[in-house]
Amino acid sequence: PRGGAPPRIRRLEESVVNRIAAGEVIQRPSSAVKELVENSIDAGASTVSVTVKDGGLKLIQVSDDGHGIRCEDLPILCERHTTSKLSAYEDLQTIKSMGFRGEALASMTYVGHVTVTTITEGQLHGYRVSYRDGVMENDPKPCAAVKGTQVMVENLFYNMVARRKTLQNSNDDYPKIVDFISRFAVHHINVNLSCRKHGANRADVHSGTTSSRLDAIRNVYGASVVRDLMEIQVSDENAVDEIFKMDGFISNANYVAKKTTMILFINDRLVDCTSLKRATEFVYSAILPQASKPFIYMSINLPPEHVDVNIHPTKKEALNSSALTQANTRKDKGTEVSTPTGEKSQKIPVS
Ligand code: ADP
Ligand code: MG
Repeated sequence: PRGGAPPRIRRLEESVVNRIAAGEVIQRPSSAVKELVENSIDAGASTVSVTVKDGGLKLIQVSDDGHGIRCEDLPILCERHTTSKLSAYEDLQTIKSMGFRGEALASMTYVGHVTVTTITEGQLHGYRVSYRDGVMENDPKPCAAVKGTQVMVENLFYNMVARRKTLQNSNDDYPKIVDFISRFAVHHINVNLSCRKHGANRADVHSGTTSSRLDAIRNVYGASVVRDLMEIQVSDENAVDEIFKMDGFISNANYVAKKTTMILFINDRLVDCTSLKRATEFVYSAILPQASKPFIYMSINLPPEHVDVNIHPTKKEALNSSALTQANTRKDKGTEVSTPTGEKSQKIPVS
């Protein structure tokens, strides 16, 4: 009541805090797939296979042939803020891995059931262990395993009724997952990425390994796309300390598509950039027939100090760069970036 005593302030229980945080990091099945595939690539995998059941709500399984996880690290693997990728805050400036917060696996254990099977080089057998709410449910069980790690997430959002309902009602997340794997496959041409529905014998994306970007695009998006692509390369070395490099493949005037495909990597991180996308569409609108939209793969490299990878818990926004704004036709005081897994983008101030 008005004018009465203020309500008491209490400390939330840790389990509540963790579950709330987990729901932010893992917003939908496609965000879990993204985190798992990034972990596999961070682990140096050359093959990553994804299997999905019920749009990811029933099962997400990601298998890789990366370096595996040490048995002695398994007890803390899924605790919050445990990572092998970062030790000091300063490391963020130069970090090359996609992960660094040590939050993804932990989050998954708060909103789903996680089982990890892993083997490191030179071992005779691997280990399997399940996690719930950040902790191991049992001691790691020795088991047969092939090189690398397999992470299985079952019953995602089993404890978040509203989220599960929304995701069940909406079109399922599988197309988003396929889209994300396709984008990754175009950039990481040395990684054989594949994605299939559980029980299907054909994969919906299968990139193969190749040394040619065009082959990768052909394997994922088809020969008809590749026929109308041209290579682009731009670099700006005005100042000694500010080097902007961009290369990619973009469609020519013969290319016909109803929707823009824009695959954008900045310092090897997949991001969306609405303003750059709009600017590109604007340029194309002068040369393409009215209804047609372009295909663009662009990889931009900037000095790491221009890219703030620590803007958002999902790392979906990852930049803060004057160089990129210069590439922008609009005089916005900011650059919008987000992951293409469907979350809303957000404006980031450019300093
Ligand atoms: P982050 O990627 O930010 O470090 P994660 O929660 O995604 O945090 O993963 C925690 C740690 O688990 C990683 O730092 C890595 O050491 C290990 N890990 C996760 N997935 C794999 C994998 N597929 N192969 C090898 N190690 C992995
Ligand atoms: Mg990670």
